[in-house]
Amino acid sequence: MGHSSRRKFLRQSSLGAAGYLFASGLVNSSFASSSVFSPSRTPAILGGQPLFNETSWVKWPMWVQSEDEKTLIESVRSGVWSRAKLVDEFENKWAAAIGVKRCLTVVNGTNALITAINQLDIGAGDEVITTPYTFIASVQAILANNAMPVFADIDPATYQIDPDKIESKITKKTKAILVVHILGLPADMDRIMAVAKKHNLIVIEDACQAHLAVYDHKVVGSIGRTGCFSFQNSKNLPIGEGGAIVSNDDKFIDNCFAAHNLGYAYGTSTGAVAGDSFMRASKIRLTEYAAAIGLAQLKRLEDQTNTRHENAAYLSSLIKDIDGVKPIKLYDKVTRGAYHLYSFRYNPEGFKGMSRTKFLDALRKEGVPCSGGYKVMHTQEFMRETFNSRVYKGFYSKKMLDFEDYKQRNNCPENAALCNDAVWMTQNVLLGSRKDMEGIAEAIRNISKNAGKI
Ligand SMILES: *Cc1c(COP(=O)(O)O)cnc(C)c1O
Repeated sequence: MGHSSRRKFLRQSSLGAAGYLFASGLVNSSFASSSVFSPSRTPAILGGQPLFNETSWVKWPMWVQSEDEKTLIESVRSGVWSRAKLVDEFENKWAAAIGVKRCLTVVNGTNALITAINQLDIGAGDEVITTPYTFIASVQAILANNAMPVFADIDPATYQIDPDKIESKITKKTKAILVVHILGLPADMDRIMAVAKKHNLIVIEDACQAHLAVYDHKVVGSIGRTGCFSFQNSKNLPIGEGGAIVSNDDKFIDNCFAAHNLGYAYGTSTGAVAGDSFMRASKIRLTEYAAAIGLAQLKRLEDQTNTRHENAAYLSSLIKDIDGVKPIKLYDKVTRGAYHLYSFRYNPEGFKGMSRTKFLDALRKEGVPCSGGYKVMHTQEFMRETFNSRVYKGFYSKKMLDFEDYKQRNNCPENAALCNDAVWMTQNVLLGSRKDMEGIAEAIRNISKNAGKI
């Protein structure tokens, strides 16, 4: 077995499940200290040898044939493909992992949010306060319910919604705060819950990137009225497509169950064709084979989450003193970040004026997968299109739907700055070794040192 195919084997086999904790993805890591980390190393963008290549990183999603396939194959061969006992098992295990009474799975995170918002009776004419720094699905889920997204600016150190910016956005129409634990890192829940309590608002947690993140000894998703999760392919618990709604509120989850199954009451057999529906509903059930994949992924999630958290802390400690680099911060009560993404803020001034685009290019050339992350969202066409719809015109005033005015009211300067200067790395990078983290830090330091020439 050649060196690179052996590495591939390590990363994909069951050995790899433990091995990823130790394996180093550094190219030529055996002589890392002599040549790769040499102070005179030429950055890859200037023709030097890259520190990493695409096989350096843990392949995502991970699939360990010997451990993962038994239940999946049994489920496929059984012909029981529509939701049954594997979906029940996954829901029970996910509820236990989050520390809540109940969990309902659905087809994806977007529909988890849509359903949760809907079953909390948030709809046309209502306002929902959320963060501008999020994946578009958070906002689409509000719009899908004909509610109005209102954006409160972020905390520039943590990237999360700033609790101090929420109160001034509350009106008579405000019904809920949709908190997003963006990048998998918990928002400042104590202060958010306090604002919500004071104004009698519902708190919904979009934990679609935050599997098993811990805030104040609580797993996120268990703190508000409900939490929503995504199991999309890139997420820390990947199924391909999948989502979940969790809560301690039995009645709410019973209603979500009906909403996810044509309005048939919770407890009705999923095969029912003549049940008495009691509500208008969609049908967004998870399949058995999806649950089998989820159960396989779930076994690794706790260990992987710890590894990401530890590597992120280590990487931050290595790069925090580099001029122009400011790693993301956690709130004091966060004892574990899920780090769906690792991020720092980039300042060209520390890099002799090198643009972020150029910096990202240089880092990518070293074999480190990275991007600039989200763009400002509330000014985009899908918002204008929504405001022009019949239902919005029927429920909101002309002033509220004046798009120029809306953009102005929802202007969030801290978010705009972050969209301009963030650097992201995907979570699989954090499943590398400590040596890999040292390699990333070295790549950044080296780009900084050669900034004048790049
Ligand atoms: C992924 C994601 C969603 C949507 O989940 P899907 O499963 O992709 O539909 C919602 N919110 C956030 C913050 C996400 O990252």
